[in-house]
Amino acid sequence: MSAKIMDGNALAKEVRAEWKVRAERLTKKGVQPGLAVVIVGDNPASSIYVRNKAKACSETGIYSEVHEFPENVSQDEVMRRIRELNNNPRIHGILVQLPLPPHLESSKVIASIAVEKDADGFHLYNVGALVTGNTVFPPCTPYGVMKMLEKCGIPVEGQHAVVVGRSNIVGKPMALMLLQKGATVTICTSKTRELAEHTRRADILVVAVGKPHIINASMVKAGATVIDVGINRMPDGKLTGDVDFESVKEKAGHVTPVPGGVGPMTITMLLGNTIEAAERAQPPEHGFNHN
Ligand code: NDP
Repeated sequence: MSAKIMDGNALAKEVRAEWKVRAERLTKKGVQPGLAVVIVGDNPASSIYVRNKAKACSETGIYSEVHEFPENVSQDEVMRRIRELNNNPRIHGILVQLPLPPHLESSKVIASIAVEKDADGFHLYNVGALVTGNTVFPPCTPYGVMKMLEKCGIPVEGQHAVVVGRSNIVGKPMALMLLQKGATVTICTSKTRELAEHTRRADILVVAVGKPHIINASMVKAGATVIDVGINRMPDGKLTGDVDFESVKEKAGHVTPVPGGVGPMTITMLLGNTIEAAERAQPPEHGFNHN
C-alpha cells in the first residue's frame, strides 16, 4: 500500500485563495488587514521566516510591517514598540519572531501584545482560551495541521491521536485541538518508555520532536495518518523531517512530506488569524460574523 501524500503547498494555495477573498472584502470596506512582525537580532533563519511572511502577506492582500531591533535592544524598548502597535489601527495582528535573545523575557514580551492582536496565539489568555475550548487564535502550526486533516477529509472524532512532543508552540496545543475535536489523545515525550508501543496504536500520529527520522515504518499502524511537523537540516544542507518518509509512505494511509507538508500551512494560518483579527475589529454593521 502506498500512502496518499498530503501536499502542504497545494493545500496552502487553496486556503490562501479563500483568505484572499476575505482580505479583499475587508479592503473594499476601507480596512486592509495588517500584520506587524517584530524581530530582534540577526538570526539568519528568523530573517528568512520573516521575509517569507512578508511575501505571503502581500500575495494575500495583507499589509505588513517588519520592526527590526538590534540584538542588544532593551526589553522596555521592544515592549514600548509593541504597545504602539497595540494602539495602531492599521495593525490587526502582531507577531514576535521567536526565539528572542536570552536577556529578553519572551513571556513578558508576548504578554505585552494585545490579546485581540495575538495572531500567533501565544499570549497566556489565548493559551487559556484554547485549554477551555473557547479558542480565540489557535497557534498557527497545530491549526495548520487541523486544517490539513479537514481538507483531506480525515475524521478526527473517535480516533486515537498520538502526539509526539509537548512543546508550548506545537505538541501541547496540538493535543488540545485534537481533544477538542473528539479524538482520544496520547502525548509522548522524551521520558516516554516504549515510544513505538504508543505510536503503533495511533490512527493519527503527529510528530513534533526535531530529531531526524525518529519515526520509521515499524512504529506506524498500517493505514494511519502521519503528520510530520519536524524540520531538521542535515549535514548536506537538505531539510528532512522527524519521520522516515520513504519507509512510512509504504505503510501509512496518509503522510506529509518535509519540506512541503506542514511548513507552508503554518504561515497560511498566521494570515488567517490576521484576517480574523481584522474582521473582529469591525463594528457589527459591517456585516462580519462576530461569533
Ligand atoms: P521542542 O524542542 O520545543 O520540543 C521537542 C519535544 O520533543 C519535547 O517535548 C521533547 O520532550 C520531545 N522529544 C525529544 N526527544 C524525544 C524522544 N526521543 N521521544 C519522544 N519525544 C521526544 O521543539 P518544537 O516543538 O518547537 O519543534 C519540534 C520540531 O518541529 C522541530 O524540528 C521544529 O523545527 C519543527 N517546527 C516546525 C514548524 C513548522 O511550521 N513545520 C513550526 C514549529 C516547529 P521533553 O519535553 O520531554 O524534552
